[in-house]
Amino acid sequence: MSKNVVMVGAGVANVNAATKLIDEGFKGKITIIDMGKNPYDRKYSEVMEGFLGAGGWSDGKLTYHTSIGGQLSKYCGEEKAMELFDQVIANFKRFHPKPEEVQCSNPIAEPEFIKPYFGLRLFPVWHVGTDYLHEIGKNWYDFLVEGGVEFIWETKVTSIDFDKSTVSYKSECCNTTMLYNKLIFGVGKSGIDFGKQLAEQYELPTEPKPVQIGVRFEAPQKHFQKLIDISYDFKLYRKYEDKGVSLRSFCTNNNAAYVAVEETYGDHSYNGHAKKDESFRNDMTNFGILMEVQGIDKPFEWSRDVVKKLQIDGTGLYYSPTRKPSTTSEGENVSAIQVDTLHKIMKPMQPYFMYVYDFIEDMKKVFPTLKDDWGIYVPEVKYLSPEPLVDYTNLALTKYSNVHFVGDALSARGITVSGAQGTYVAEHILKN
Ligand SMILES: Cc1cc2nc3c(=O)[nH]c(=O)nc-3n(C[C@H](O)[C@H](O)[C@H](O)COP(=O)(O)OP(=O)(O)OC[C@H]3O[C@@H](n4cnc5c(N)ncnc54)[C@H](O)[C@@H]3O)c2cc1C
Repeated sequence: MSKNVVMVGAGVANVNAATKLIDEGFKGKITIIDMGKNPYDRKYSEVMEGFLGAGGWSDGKLTYHTSIGGQLSKYCGEEKAMELFDQVIANFKRFHPKPEEVQCSNPIAEPEFIKPYFGLRLFPVWHVGTDYLHEIGKNWYDFLVEGGVEFIWETKVTSIDFDKSTVSYKSECCNTTMLYNKLIFGVGKSGIDFGKQLAEQYELPTEPKPVQIGVRFEAPQKHFQKLIDISYDFKLYRKYEDKGVSLRSFCTNNNAAYVAVEETYGDHSYNGHAKKDESFRNDMTNFGILMEVQGIDKPFEWSRDVVKKLQIDGTGLYYSPTRKPSTTSEGENVSAIQVDTLHKIMKPMQPYFMYVYDFIEDMKKVFPTLKDDWGIYVPEVKYLSPEPLVDYTNLALTKYSNVHFVGDALSARGITVSGAQGTYVAEHILKN
């Protein structure tokens, strides 16, 4: 059994990893280093750093489905993934001051009128309650400290030597270097640059990434109301397995829904947001129609090139059979050049735009009042950051078998998946 486990980051992933080790009577030493504070001293303004990381100050919604929140079943299979999720949820309940209040919302089955054309992703969510996260954090922290875990707070790890198995950080008095037998790297989104730096320094092989590109669709809300009543943030999807293409509606905004311009690498693309204040109500709905395309060589460069070709006069494009671009919540026009033909969009997105077009055509069948009362802002794009290639059985780097990547630093995008990845690695350490 490894003697000395060092964890970088006290986020959801590593806290769950440490809990598993303690629960199973791990006899070695566990040290967790975090640049934030312990749960007693952490302030509300410290959103990303400290005990339980971003998860500790989050909305406390624990998604319970393998298709949501990033990758897990890819590594360990569906059944194991669900079992790991159960362990994470059990931990949140165990340290909750009122566990009986942790409730699971489980939406109803997919409605019939959607079925012929689309899948609708409905998934259970456990609601921990934002207000309780602070108390959960304290109880959980006390358990780990009593179990012998050593925490080093307010300390940023600045370098890791994978060849010598050491981590380095600056403590109050001096630069310190610590040896490890096993390292679990769980720095979350706040440590994304550090992860990137290590990947470059050690030339870590990366996982091939799909392209994610599409349009931001906008229409009056009334056309979609029947579905919104069932699922507020509905997720329509479809898959063309043989073509390596899948599509999903993404990030739906309703009631007071505005399209937003994003500037990335000097080009415009689109996104959406909803205002809570009733005074902003415009009774519109917007959502991304995002395509995930597998197998494109150099996906990042390909996406950049397509986005560039979809710019006119320094901004993106808008197409609608009948409508004009909307205004922002501040009453200004959403920056976009209106084009009168889809050809100007189709050409740069060759050969993929037809999938988006079919998606819209089928929405017209499912939502019969929609007809030509819609518009699209083009492009919407997600540039996926490189993900280090790991051994699927234990999430260790393929080049360094005693270094494990977990949580948002690997492929997770949520609390349950991050915690489950940490638990998965801990199980491997215990086994060996
Ligand atoms: C505002 C907000 C709300 C969210 N709401 C939800 C939600 O309701 N449901 C959900 O599933 N997900 C939610 N998320 C996402 C979720 O919080 C993350 O996916 C999850 O916390 C990731 O866990 P992690 O352990 O990988 O990283 P984190 O929990 O982010 O922890 C990483 C830790 O690493 C530390 N760290 C980083 N770099 C270093 C370094 N160099 N040295 C030392 N320490 C370092 C940080 O201080 C941090 O404590 C939310 C995120 C945010 C920001």
